[in-house]
Amino acid sequence: MNIQRLPKVELHRHLELCVRPSTIYELAPQFGISLPDEQAFRDRFLITEPMNDLGSVLNKFLDTQKLWASEELIERLTFEACEDAFKIDNIRILELRYAPTFVRMGHEHLSFEHIHRAILRGVTKAEAEFPMAVGLICIIQRILPVEEAEAVTNFAIENRASFVGLDLADNEVGFDSKPFAPFFLRAKEAGLGITVHSGEAPVANAPRYVKEAIDYLGATRIGHGVQIYRDASIMEFVRAKGIVLELCPTSNYLTQAIPVLKEHPFRRLFEAGIKTTVNSDDPGIFNIDLNNEYRILSERLGMSVEQLETCTDIAAKASFITLEKKQKVWPRRL
Ligand SMILES: [Zn+2]
Repeated sequence: MNIQRLPKVELHRHLELCVRPSTIYELAPQFGISLPDEQAFRDRFLITEPMNDLGSVLNKFLDTQKLWASEELIERLTFEACEDAFKIDNIRILELRYAPTFVRMGHEHLSFEHIHRAILRGVTKAEAEFPMAVGLICIIQRILPVEEAEAVTNFAIENRASFVGLDLADNEVGFDSKPFAPFFLRAKEAGLGITVHSGEAPVANAPRYVKEAIDYLGATRIGHGVQIYRDASIMEFVRAKGIVLELCPTSNYLTQAIPVLKEHPFRRLFEAGIKTTVNSDDPGIFNIDLNNEYRILSERLGMSVEQLETCTDIAAKASFITLEKKQKVWPRRL
């Protein structure tokens, strides 16, 4: 099957971590990072082997983050992220998520407003040039103090005309969902879609965290949620509620959430009747694209093209972008 040609949907892609390699080569020297050869680039920016040393991984995130340093660069990097999604992956419906607090780190001359406007300019330019619909999700970082989370919530709600959803990200161990409940309730009332990173790391409570994200935060979509395969009752809960899982196979392998790629439970969850979708998470840093994730499901997990298209249609329907906007770029009726 020609995977590239399938029209696709991406629900789970971090804008800050999908910078084009040629752009990194071009910009890195301005930020004091010398990249004399391919190996230096790989060592400094890419994660292509399962992680065992969190420190070096975080440094890679931070190196990429350095490039988001001005409104001009933010607009350019956003446009390129959309262009690559369309040209490389044939993505027609694209949701990009970003954390204003993460982008601003070290770039304090930029306000959330500056950052968001620059991103919107990049998105608008891409939508004018390519037949694609792009939606932005605002991320709250769990690890931040609660006042900062509140400020980000307020920012997302004030900009609800140009955000489609709100997300909670970062390590959930030791950072319960419950304190964030008032924020997510307000965002939901304001009309934002709710997706929450949960059930990613292989910890004992992972399935329970997913249930809490649904119960306390009103999530209708879960970023990852892959660990629910360990708990039949929570799988049934997720299925019965029609919750959508944003699954990211390569990401799960590289973070060792799922130690062996061939044993990824994607197909098992799909066959259990759970709404499963295919996503790339951090394509720039993982050196992958969305085609790669479809290929894994086809070649390693033996899923058929019909099954993959079913997942894509689930994603198209689950996208927080308005039906009218999605339908204009999607080849099948939603
Ligand atoms: Zn993610």
